[in-house]
Amino acid sequence: MKRKCQNFLNIETVKTLFYSTKDFEQPFLEAAGGRHKDVSFIREALSIQTVNKAKGFDVISIFAGDDASSNVIAELYQTGVRFIAIRAAGYDNVDIKKARELGIAVANAPAYSPYAIAEHAVTLMLALNRKITTADNQVHHQNFTVSNLVGFDLNRKIVGIIGVGKIGSILVKIMHGFGCRLLGYDVRQNKELNEEYKLEYVDLGALCREADIISIHTSLTPHTKYMLNSKLVNLMKQGVMIINTSRGGCVNTADIIAGLENGHIGYYGADVYENERGVFFYDYSDKEIRDPMLKKLLSLPNVLLTPHQAFATQEALFNIAEATFDHIDCWENGQDSENELTRASYEIVLQHQQLCNTSKN
Ligand code: NAD
Repeated sequence: MKRKCQNFLNIETVKTLFYSTKDFEQPFLEAAGGRHKDVSFIREALSIQTVNKAKGFDVISIFAGDDASSNVIAELYQTGVRFIAIRAAGYDNVDIKKARELGIAVANAPAYSPYAIAEHAVTLMLALNRKITTADNQVHHQNFTVSNLVGFDLNRKIVGIIGVGKIGSILVKIMHGFGCRLLGYDVRQNKELNEEYKLEYVDLGALCREADIISIHTSLTPHTKYMLNSKLVNLMKQGVMIINTSRGGCVNTADIIAGLENGHIGYYGADVYENERGVFFYDYSDKEIRDPMLKKLLSLPNVLLTPHQAFATQEALFNIAEATFDHIDCWENGQDSENELTRASYEIVLQHQQLCNTSKN
């Protein structure tokens, strides 16, 4: 239900700046924003260094790697920005409370395509298990042997899903199709997934003890920061596979590396990395990577890393672009956008944070 919004935009004069615009998403944004005249795209991410670029703009749009922490939000307010459209589901990089205090409206794109992310998690699982990158490399060197390529059936394996929200629920349905037994951990339980897909909700310790494959799909909050750490790794089965397509900070990477090195963790597949900002989405092929943890991850044979690409499907990019301009349209019409985190959904944001903060791991 759309309600009247406090701030108004004027279609004739509204100026929108897109930070962190990727070449592959710009055509989708241009198509969705057709009637909006004054739209600018820049490649730089929002940060305290780049906040001045927003001067003269009413609306900015940012992505998952941008920094919209408290001091950046305060500076944005000074530049005159009153609306922020996040082109992502997660908003861990945005200080929603500060924006609300200053009267800056913030909206996200919460359900642009949970399929894109869940399917990418499955891609990582299958590629790691069936050693697809090794196989591809081998056959391109005319080595057609299979000795290095033995995997396991997913059928009847136990898959633990941490965070069974929009993306986690799709993963439940996909893995049910593979014939897996499904364990879930979440602060909220979905009865339908239990009844139709036999998802068993268990506590986090039990999930870690029993699962052959663990896939994490929580949002990043102070409570989920380093949720997967050495304490939980020690509970896991020898040779467990861990998949992370949520946020890098949900796992303690140093603990994961230790588990990989001592052989307790068999495989690690991730689309995100806790220090990805400034590296993922950029071409470092002729530059040196200075981050020792990232270098270590890249050197391990049982690690498969992708550069935060899970959202990069045609459908997801189309929906993100549409959702972004829907927010701007709502703001022009003096309405709260349905996905406005600072007003329409603020109670949900708060309740959810409370619920997550009181949950026990
Ligand atoms: P969602 O809000 O629908 O689901 C998150 C789930 O995590 C919820 O069910 C919530 O109750 C649960 N949760 C949160 N805190 C918890 C806690 N402390 N203990 C147990 N459960 C907890 O969100 P979603 O759309 O499924 O997306 C999940 C996350 O995936 C996003 O927040 C984002 O960080 C990430 N994501 C990544 C990409 C990518 O390209 N790699 C794209 C989209 C989203």
